[in-house]
Amino acid sequence: MLVARHTGPTGWSRPRIEPIRCLPLHPATKALHYALECFEGLKATGVWTRLRASAERATLASFDPGELLDCLRQLVRTDLAWVPRSQEGALYIRPAMIASEPRIAIGPAEETTLFIITGPVGPYYPTGFKPVTLLADPEFARAWPGGAGRSKMGSNYGPTCRIQLLAAEQGCQQVLWLFGPEHRITEVGTMNVFLFWRCPSSGRPQLVTPALTEDLILPGITRSSVLELARQWGDWEVIERNVTMPEVADAIQSGRLLEMFGCGTACVVNPVGAIRYQGQLLQVPTMSEGAPVTMRFFKALTDIQYGRIPQHPWADIV
Ligand code: PMP
Repeated sequence: MLVARHTGPTGWSRPRIEPIRCLPLHPATKALHYALECFEGLKATGVWTRLRASAERATLASFDPGELLDCLRQLVRTDLAWVPRSQEGALYIRPAMIASEPRIAIGPAEETTLFIITGPVGPYYPTGFKPVTLLADPEFARAWPGGAGRSKMGSNYGPTCRIQLLAAEQGCQQVLWLFGPEHRITEVGTMNVFLFWRCPSSGRPQLVTPALTEDLILPGITRSSVLELARQWGDWEVIERNVTMPEVADAIQSGRLLEMFGCGTACVVNPVGAIRYQGQLLQVPTMSEGAPVTMRFFKALTDIQYGRIPQHPWADIV
């Protein structure tokens, strides 16, 4: 693991790579009481500015993204033997930052401990794409305007676990997080969400994802990669705007919704097969033609990640 500590008077300590160990935490450690904590999850580069933004939201110490990337390269070199030698697995990398001072008093972080741990992961789809069923229940919200939903703070995740259990009781693998009286769709579990449909007015194919407004949505690295690829390909209109659940239901009922998928670092893309909404199980036809659009993104992104496209600007060779 890599560890560094920041205090006001002395700034960042020299980062150390050392055998993984338990962190000695005083029972009054602020992160444990007030959730002053943030983290990242990556198999690729480009998330440092998001971690820095989350740290700022959590009042944790800031850092130089270039320096942290150098630290990570060093850690990955140290852990090279743990990187799966396959075109499907990966070394998962989990950076986290916590307010580590022992203080029972709500207030900004005064000391930050940063650590990065890694671990090998196998293929997300060992037996092929598995479409998920979503619970879309407007009673639950993951984030709200003015909140911290766009930051990767632990306090956004803990409260979702119970809702995930309730979804599982209804046969759903993920929650489709809705927001507001118009039931805007925001995210799927811990993924951003995309729709591929025919536009209600023009009938032309469109790729649509909710816009990053009002702190409701985590700005996913996979989301921005999907948008950038789609815009490079230029095959369909690519739109970031608010989408409501009644619009999705209408698109399903009129046969205009062709594919729907979540996307994130862990799975790359995850096809949606059905949505439980207001007492109905709406069938989403993502897999009916083999999910060509979802599959195209999966292939394009994994070709970059596994170096099948040499020297891609999004890849960082360690
Ligand atoms: N939304 C949430 C709430 C997440 O936790 C994640 C995972 N980081 C994502 C979306 C997807 O983001 P990324 O593509 O950067 O993994």
